[in-house]
Amino acid sequence: MDYQPVLDRIHAALQPVIGQGKVASYIPELANVAADQFGMAVVDVAGNVYAVGDAGKRFSIQSISKLFALTLAFQREGDSLWTRVGREPSGNPFNSLVQLERENGIPRNPFINAGALVITDMLASRSVNAAQSLVDFVRKLAGVADITYNTRVAQSEISTSSRNAAMAHFMKSFGNLHNKVGEVLHAYCHHCAIEMSCVELARAVGFLANHGVNPWNGETVVDPSSAKRLSALMLTCGTYDAAGDFAYRVGLPAKSGVGGGIVAILPGECGICVWSPALEESGNSHAGSLALEMFTSLTRRSIF
Ligand code: GLN
Repeated sequence: MDYQPVLDRIHAALQPVIGQGKVASYIPELANVAADQFGMAVVDVAGNVYAVGDAGKRFSIQSISKLFALTLAFQREGDSLWTRVGREPSGNPFNSLVQLERENGIPRNPFINAGALVITDMLASRSVNAAQSLVDFVRKLAGVADITYNTRVAQSEISTSSRNAAMAHFMKSFGNLHNKVGEVLHAYCHHCAIEMSCVELARAVGFLANHGVNPWNGETVVDPSSAKRLSALMLTCGTYDAAGDFAYRVGLPAKSGVGGGIVAILPGECGICVWSPALEESGNSHAGSLALEMFTSLTRRSIF
């Protein structure tokens, strides 16, 4: 299918909404990003690229990194991973601490901060440099060699990460964090500070659209059943506590980040990424959510 006319239509229709909402400012470096930007890309499993607006501009992927970190950890740990993190929606904000005490330091899912800290801890146990190992993994997934993290953004988050540090210490008290809190936070903040464009992100999730096989090099990233499971988690937990509303409106597995990016997958067809930095209350990109909703309405393609 030729997605270009669809993307052009979405871009034109959303002009009045682009910039509405709030750019994340609790990480000081992110507050400097101009709100009025918008890009969207679709890359189908044959490698055709459709793009509009700022689709080639790199931005901070933030929580989208949680999808790649989970994939890498899942590759290494398999199902034993689920003894340390759950797979249910949390119904709470992504940085909430409230469930951790009642649930003995086991986070609800890998896509909230507490869950991603546990996943990062697993990666740290198996690699000398957990930050770089995720960068290397993402470079391979996207087939782009110069993807890297922004050190300023990482430092900016590390110096303001009291809340994530509190979660990490708390989980350590339950024995659910094996490495030093400082080391885990360092890797986690560098993962979040990776910068990629919409085109690169739409390519990087190609393996999920392609049932676990990286379409750009033919390598199996995960088996088809794992690709299904990762996508199911995206649908139920990938857009914070707005995941129910997102599934209702959009109908695609997706993962968002407070940098304003959202990746989504149309299984068997394509990877999609939209970016617009101004966020809704839930932390999802406002224009981005609307763009994906329009995408599934106009194409009549979703998982339902
Ligand atoms: N780095 C951010 C944080 O830990 C990521 C959050 C997000 O994108 N939802 O708060």
